[in-house]
Amino acid sequence: MGKQIPIKEDLFTWPSAAPQLIGGRCPECSEFHFPLQQNCPSCAGRKVDSVELSRRGKLWTWTIQNFVPPVPPYTGEVKSFKPFGVGYIELPEGVVVESRLTVSDASKLHIGMDMELVLEPFRIDEQGNEIISFAFAPIATY
Ligand SMILES: [Zn+2]
Repeated sequence: MGKQIPIKEDLFTWPSAAPQLIGGRCPECSEFHFPLQQNCPSCAGRKVDSVELSRRGKLWTWTIQNFVPPVPPYTGEVKSFKPFGVGYIELPEGVVVESRLTVSDASKLHIGMDMELVLEPFRIDEQGNEIISFAFAPIATY
C-alpha cells in the first residue's frame, strides 16, 4: 500500500481537513508572499515569518493548459496527460498564487469568481505513493 505524500515540504498544511498554503510575511515591510522564502522578495529583508494563508481567494486570471508543460514536475507524464486549468488566485493577504485549478472547462471559469484551496492526488510515484498537490476549486455561490 502506498502512502500519501505532499509534493513539497512546507508548501501547505499537512495533513489537514481544511488545508492552507504556507506563505511568508515580512516584519519589515509587512508584505505577504508565497511560497515561503528565506528572504523577503519585496524588500530583501532577512527575517520572514511563516504564516498560514487564507483558504479562499478570487480568480485573477486563468488559462487552460492543453499540452504537457516541458518543465518538472510534469515531464514524463505525456501518456496520462489531460488538459487542466491553471490560474492566478488573489488571496485577501494580497498574495497572488499560481495554481492548478480543479476545473478544465472554460465555461465554468470567470475572472473574479470565488475559489477555495483543495488538496488532490497529483500523480503516483515509483513506490506506489500518492503524491498530493494543491489546487483551487470554484466555490458555488448561488
Ligand atoms: Zn519585506
